[in-house]
Amino acid sequence: MRKIIRKPARYISLLTLALSSSIVHASPWETKTSPSAHDPKAIGGYANGCLAGAASLPLQGKGYQVLRSDRLRYYGHPQTVSFIQRLSDLASDNLDTTLLIGDMSLPQGGRFSKGHKSHQTGLDIDIWLRLADKRLSAHQLLHPKPLSVVNIKQYKLLKKNWDLRHFELIKLAATDNDVARIFVHPVIKNKLCITESAGDREWLRKVRPWWGHHSHMHVRLKCPAGSEGCIEQAPPPEGDGCGAELQSWEPKPVTQVATKKSENKPVKTVKKKIIMPELCQQLINQS
Ligand SMILES: [Zn+2]
Repeated sequence: MRKIIRKPARYISLLTLALSSSIVHASPWETKTSPSAHDPKAIGGYANGCLAGAASLPLQGKGYQVLRSDRLRYYGHPQTVSFIQRLSDLASDNLDTTLLIGDMSLPQGGRFSKGHKSHQTGLDIDIWLRLADKRLSAHQLLHPKPLSVVNIKQYKLLKKNWDLRHFELIKLAATDNDVARIFVHPVIKNKLCITESAGDREWLRKVRPWWGHHSHMHVRLKCPAGSEGCIEQAPPPEGDGCGAELQSWEPKPVTQVATKKSENKPVKTVKKKIIMPELCQQLINQS
């Protein structure tokens, strides 16, 4: 006789909660399949905004290919599209490679259901650190395999996957005038700090350490002219960011972490309600 297994009530309520929370967080911006018919404008902040009059990056071009185009995340401010084409052109001529372009923004920007917090105003781009020396096939572009350059557990560079061209590529991007910041894993930032000579370190200021970002770099552009509602981030701290700040990212020995935690009193966090910029509310309500 088959045994009837009853699932505990707690299990069922957890399941319901998980399902309902995924419904609550579904983003209406993902239902927009084309850009709005406006002049181009990045509106709001990188992590709370939207994009009017987006441009689409052609799926193939000199020095680059677009990954997972079925997700419709190859839209950006026209300035973003120009930046990618400019950088790819240099990568092709100087580094003899093809860049793999990951997520940019949705056709009208805005929030994603999951994954990115930023990428909302058409000014953020993920560029993979896997350098495609041979162009990828249509199937490979839809199902790409990332290449990490960091051994996360050991907090070390994966030397077999690191190429001097990674250094050159990140430097090319950071020295572009339109770029505000580039996020890479702290281990990568450390490698850049070691590799650069004493004389030319200004660009390192723009390269910011952040978790994740070990198989792609995240490039963030400045607010373009004509985007009055666009909110800039404060400039990065002075200096190349290679000293104490970078060291503060290094994992601490377990005992130290445990003592630190017990010393800290629990802090009450109040969740702030995020209000979408009014222009974005208008945009999302248009069909
Ligand atoms: Zn990103």
